[in-house]
Amino acid sequence: MLSDLEKARYARHFLLPGWDEECQKKLKNTTVFVAGAGGTGSPTITMLALLGVGKIRICDFDVFEESNKNRQFLHSISDERLGMNKAMSAAKTVYSINPNVRVEYFTDKFTEDNIDDIVGDADYIFDCVDKFKYKFILADCAVRKRIPMFFYGIMGYDFFGYIFYPPKTACFNCLFDKEKIQKIEKLHSRSSEVAAMSPALFSASGVMMLQAVKMMLGYDEPAYNKFYFGFGKQSNVLHERSVRGFKFWNTKYFDEKCAVQGFNWKTKDSTDLFEVLNITGNPECPYCGNMTNR
Ligand SMILES: [Zn+2]
Repeated sequence: MLSDLEKARYARHFLLPGWDEECQKKLKNTTVFVAGAGGTGSPTITMLALLGVGKIRICDFDVFEESNKNRQFLHSISDERLGMNKAMSAAKTVYSINPNVRVEYFTDKFTEDNIDDIVGDADYIFDCVDKFKYKFILADCAVRKRIPMFFYGIMGYDFFGYIFYPPKTACFNCLFDKEKIQKIEKLHSRSSEVAAMSPALFSASGVMMLQAVKMMLGYDEPAYNKFYFGFGKQSNVLHERSVRGFKFWNTKYFDEKCAVQGFNWKTKDSTDLFEVLNITGNPECPYCGNMTNR
C-alpha cells in the first residue's frame, strides 16, 4: 500500500506512460545493493532514494574527506560528515531525501568470504567501486545469486556502462582479464588518486539507472549486450598512460568484438557523444560459455 503522502510524492511518476501505483509498489518491494558510496555511489544512491526503491543496502569502509567534496554530494551537504564513514553518512542523507526508504549499511571491507551475506536478499547489484579486484568479487557474487550487476564508471571526462547478467549477457570474465588486472593493480597500488568530476560520474549513473528502472518495472527490454561509452572530451584518456584504461585489461575476445565494429581501444579518438558497442558473451568463456539460454 502507498500512503497519501507517498502518492503525492510520486505523482509525477504516475504521469509517465506505463507507470502506475502498482509500479511504485514494485519499487517499494525492491531491494538493491550498492557497493561504494563515493563518486558513482552518490548519484546512484540518491536516484534510488528519489525513485522510492524500498530497501538499499550500502557498503563502504572509506571515510569522507575534503577532496571528495567536488562530487560526493551525499556527504558534501555538511562539514560534520568529514571523517564519517561514507556508508553511514549515505544512510543519513537517504533518510532526509526519502524517509520511506530503508537503508542497511555496512562499514567493513567486503571480501570473497563475506560478500554473499552483505548483498543478502538484494535483487540487483550496483557496482560503484573503483578497483577491479572488488568488481570481480561483486560479479562472482551476482552470478552465484543469479541477479544482474550494473557496471559503470568514468575514465577522466569519459564514461561507460554495461549490464552483466549472464547468460543473457557476457560475464565479467568474458570482457576483463583477471590476471592482467591483478598485475596492473599490484604495480600501481600506490597511485589510488584518480581524476574525477561530477558530470561524467552523474552521466554514467543516469544512463545505468534508466536501465535499472526498466528491469525493476519491466516496461521495456533493458539494453542487454550493449556497452555504452560516452565521450566528454575529444582525444581523452584512451591515449594517456592511465592504468585505468580499458586497453590494459581487456580480454582478447572483448578487443576483437570492438575491433570488428570499428572501435579500437588503443587508438580511439572520437568526436561522437556516444558510442554503443554490441558485446555478447563469449561462447568459449570458461566461466559462462556452458550456461544455457545464450
Ligand atoms: Zn563469460
